[in-house]
Amino acid sequence: MSADDDISALADYEQEEDIEPAEDTAKAGEAGDDEAGKTNVDTHSTVHTASFKDFLLKPELLRAINDCGFEHPSQVQFQAIPQAILGTDVICQANSGMGKTAVFVLSVLQQLKPEDGLTCLLLGHTRELAYQISNEFDRFKKYLPDVKTAVFFGGLPIAKDRETLKKDGPNVVIGTPGRILALAQEKSLDLTKLKHFVLDECDSLLESLDMRADVQKIFRLTPREKQVMMFTATLNDEIREVCKKFMYQPLEIYISAGSKLTLHGLVQYYVQLEEREKTRKLIDLLDNLQFNQCVVFVSSVKRASELNKILVESKFPSIAIYRGMPQQERIQKYAQFKEFRARIMVATNLLGRGIDIERINVVVNYDMPESANTYLHRVGRAGRFGTKGLAISFVSSEDDGKVLNDVQKVFLVEVPALPEEINPSSYMSS
Ligand code: ADP
Repeated sequence: MSADDDISALADYEQEEDIEPAEDTAKAGEAGDDEAGKTNVDTHSTVHTASFKDFLLKPELLRAINDCGFEHPSQVQFQAIPQAILGTDVICQANSGMGKTAVFVLSVLQQLKPEDGLTCLLLGHTRELAYQISNEFDRFKKYLPDVKTAVFFGGLPIAKDRETLKKDGPNVVIGTPGRILALAQEKSLDLTKLKHFVLDECDSLLESLDMRADVQKIFRLTPREKQVMMFTATLNDEIREVCKKFMYQPLEIYISAGSKLTLHGLVQYYVQLEEREKTRKLIDLLDNLQFNQCVVFVSSVKRASELNKILVESKFPSIAIYRGMPQQERIQKYAQFKEFRARIMVATNLLGRGIDIERINVVVNYDMPESANTYLHRVGRAGRFGTKGLAISFVSSEDDGKVLNDVQKVFLVEVPALPEEINPSSYMSS
């Protein structure tokens, strides 16, 4: 069940410029467990005494979990899955890489009955995230052949989506708000039987007022009685209140001490240099570092395409991905990287969130991000699920230096200058 009545108030919220994850997590930590339904946990590691079997999941799901190599549930899975599979509304903030995706994918698959038609809608803020979630569904529904999923996002012909909806009759639809709303408004997508409404990276979906308006419109086209689940790595107080307006007595999970944890296992350095020295330094690093896959973040689309051109000309296996690129190409590039057919990706902030590519172990901030929060999302691409990683940030202006200081303050870490030599075992998982 959800509080639809309150939804009209949503548009009144101001859009937040930036969010302060550490402050939030600290507050969540202080709150303790005394508020009903609220849970704070303070470790990212798996719960070694627990087993996925304890959740009484369908045997088909347990087999798929086993195939994925998951031995124990992570903290967030341990806290959320038992209640989520009962249809409870859930709001969950935990660092990136803690296994939030499996929480909603498993909970939905556990409850879903293919004969009921379309019962689950999942929204993500970017096309890549939607595509990645659909891949996660594919992994976990491997032994549930009757469950059908479909993914829809802008940039590809809508006629194809209509055809898929008509022909395949998906049980789970994953997509970005704009395209989903368009399909729902023209009635190609029937949301009247929906039982699960899930927002991944919910703060991104609700922060931008345009996207929030689309999410609200979609929400209004769904039945009153349904399970609502929202997930994010960062959540400020205001957006948290916005989220809760969509829900009914949600189970709230806030992983405390997030700052320290997020950067756990990640070795971080900065390099002070002039703007014009950046490319040479990057090439030098790429030549000398040992990495499986590396993401190089830059501040604009133009810089992404130009830097990538230089890297390709220098014979590096690099690709670029950014907004404005034709959709087919974007997805193709993303798949190419995910499948390890390219080892370097030059990207803008577009890729800074929610994307899980396990082989990424080095992140270079060629351009320093604009805030500590963006830094967290970017470097979170390396060192997923407790694996090791390396983040190197180029500092070439006073503003860059300020962001670096903020990062150190907010996340309670020291980011030293890059030494002459780094021992690969400090950032490569054995
Ligand atoms: P989040 O959504 O919190 O950012 P993901 O769901 O993307 O995190 O998970 C991060 C990585 O950890 C993924 O590669 C996922 O397959 C893996 N993972 C998730 N849960 C477990 C687990 N219980 N055991 C081992 N690996 C896991």
